[in-house]
Amino acid sequence: PALIEIKGVTHAYQTATGPLPVLDNLNVSVPEGTFTAVVGPSGCGKSTLTKLIAGLLRPDRGEVWLHGERVKSPRKTVGMAFQNPVLLEWRTILDNVILPLEIVAPRMPKKDRIKRAEELLALVGLEGFEDKRPSELSGGMRQRASLCRSLVHKPDVLILDEPFGALDAFTREDLWQTMHELRRQEPFTSLLITHDLRESVYLADEVIVLSGRPATTQFVLDVDLPGE
Ligand code: ADP
Ligand code: ADP
Repeated sequence: PALIEIKGVTHAYQTATGPLPVLDNLNVSVPEGTFTAVVGPSGCGKSTLTKLIAGLLRPDRGEVWLHGERVKSPRKTVGMAFQNPVLLEWRTILDNVILPLEIVAPRMPKKDRIKRAEELLALVGLEGFEDKRPSELSGGMRQRASLCRSLVHKPDVLILDEPFGALDAFTREDLWQTMHELRRQEPFTSLLITHDLRESVYLADEVIVLSGRPATTQFVLDVDLPGE
């Protein structure tokens, strides 16, 4: 069975002017170990979809399954990274990355937590920056640190909501490379939300295209790049 299974999900927001239908009979399946992208224009319900998976919203109709369990409440086993990384300025980069372990694995020995965080930081090219504060790093480096923080506790799934959208083109492509490197070293299942079709094809094994108002699954692209 797939790690994430969205079956016939329909959702509307209740607004002052009446219900605003956002998703209509949406079907998404993310098999374990794969990188799936959901692409669609701004406002088509991509963030709504991530909130449904994380258990922050409940659908009007349909079902959301994660790891064989119906999602009914917020999950710790979902790692998330957003367009603007929220790093705590009063903590060092290392201590920011360690944070999820303090919550999810409070009995893990401190030296093991540090080791795990240091390994991930080295993987994304942030060796030597462990003791810096977030404001001392560039935007791209902060996003690298934020990716480490999203993965440090080995979540079942990593949800990336436009994580590279605020970066310049050069930094963005650098981070795409880093994502490939991370996946090679540390296999994980990921759902990437983006409006950038090029990014989705570069990073994902499968691309799900959403459109329409309310949005529904239009088609699925199997990405099979030469040399992979
Ligand atoms: P995307 O991430 O694809 O840009 P969103 O899921 O953020 O789309 O939003 C889809 C639509 O739902 C938009 O029209 C947005 O304005 C609306 N919307 C999002 N969140 C809410 C909310 N909490 N209440 C009312 N409308 C919302
Ligand atoms: P995104 O960058 O994902 O498209 P937005 O800037 O549209 O996000 O929305 C930011 C936050 O505001 C989200 O949590 C979204 O659910 C909420 N939101 C968006 N549109 C509305 C709305 N019309 N009414 C209430 N909340 C909204």
